[in-house]
Amino acid sequence: MPPSDLADRLAGAHHGLSRAVRVSFEFFPPTDEPAAQTLWSAVQRLAPLAPRFVSITYGAGGSTRDRTHQLVRRLLGDTSLTPAPHLTCVGSERAQIEQIARSYWDAGVRHIVALRGDPVPGSGAYCPRPDGFPFAVDLVRGLRAVADFEISVAAYPEVHPEARDAQADLDNLKAKLDAGADRAITQFFFDPALFLRFRERCAAAGIRAPLVPGILPITRFPQMLRFAERAGASVPAWLRRRFDGLEDDTDTRRLIAAAFAISQVETLCREGVEEFHFYTLNRAELTYAICHALGLRPGTATAPAVPGALSSQR
Ligand SMILES: Cc1cc2nc3c(=O)[nH]c(=O)nc-3n(C[C@H](O)[C@H](O)[C@H](O)COP(=O)(O)OP(=O)(O)OC[C@H]3O[C@@H](n4cnc5c(N)ncnc54)[C@H](O)[C@@H]3O)c2cc1C
Repeated sequence: MPPSDLADRLAGAHHGLSRAVRVSFEFFPPTDEPAAQTLWSAVQRLAPLAPRFVSITYGAGGSTRDRTHQLVRRLLGDTSLTPAPHLTCVGSERAQIEQIARSYWDAGVRHIVALRGDPVPGSGAYCPRPDGFPFAVDLVRGLRAVADFEISVAAYPEVHPEARDAQADLDNLKAKLDAGADRAITQFFFDPALFLRFRERCAAAGIRAPLVPGILPITRFPQMLRFAERAGASVPAWLRRRFDGLEDDTDTRRLIAAAFAISQVETLCREGVEEFHFYTLNRAELTYAICHALGLRPGTATAPAVPGALSSQR
């Protein structure tokens, strides 16, 4: 077989049924100059892939507020990317959050990722403030009242760790979308079947908005395990075995990580997924490789030929 990329192979395999894949990237605000250099080199490398938007995290408890705003302003001023700042309820008054949203709008921001947010680690369980937005659904309503933002919200294929049960969590997601959110971006997961089952449950609950899988390329395995524990994401035993013994072997680890993530997106593409959100951790290499396998090339807004669908997403 002549060399071809994943997109061409799959599109061909499904008799030319090809569609456009879109991607978006998450970055976090850097804490110091070396971290800023790492971030900007990742931005430079990934920007030519023309992501639909780049989302910028808001630290736990709103702790990166100023750095998030600075990064958003710089992205607006110095790049052609579309920044989508994350905004959280935790630790802020309603009026403060509305003011931030208004100043974002005035600066040209048109897309916000609306979240309840996590409290600062060690500060105990989340407790809504009486003068704040209690949950993400309330923030979505608040943002809608400020301006006509595009709004993304969070979704949890493996159920949010604090949810009463899976049904309550699904009801909450539907409430956020019914309140005016445009799409849901999922927490990361590793087994594509988890996402596909969740998508079915969303469809059965009447959710029609796009459900975008959040993909975490595994840069460092121990760090990923910490994230997974906090997020309530399961790590299959076979994935642990695959990274076993590679702690000091960066090159092999990177190859394994790329191969795994490419097979993950390949499976999702076959099931009709057309949009992916990458948790880049401010690193370009793995995300770039996965996007390349998806058929994305510098200078194209969407992949030229995209995996054909076995079944449609919604
Ligand atoms: C794509 C994505 C990006 C993220 N970015 C950030 C970030 O930048 N900064 C950050 O701090 N965190 C971030 N997080 C983490 C997120 O803030 C946490 O998972 C947080 O604990 C929940 O946020 P949410 O918006 O999903 O909350 P919500 O949708 O409000 O839900 C939170 C929990 O409360 C429950 N719930 C909802 N309404 C009620 C109610 N009325 N009564 C009782 N329970 C209720 C829900 O079932 C759920 O268990 C992100 C998560 C994702 C998936």
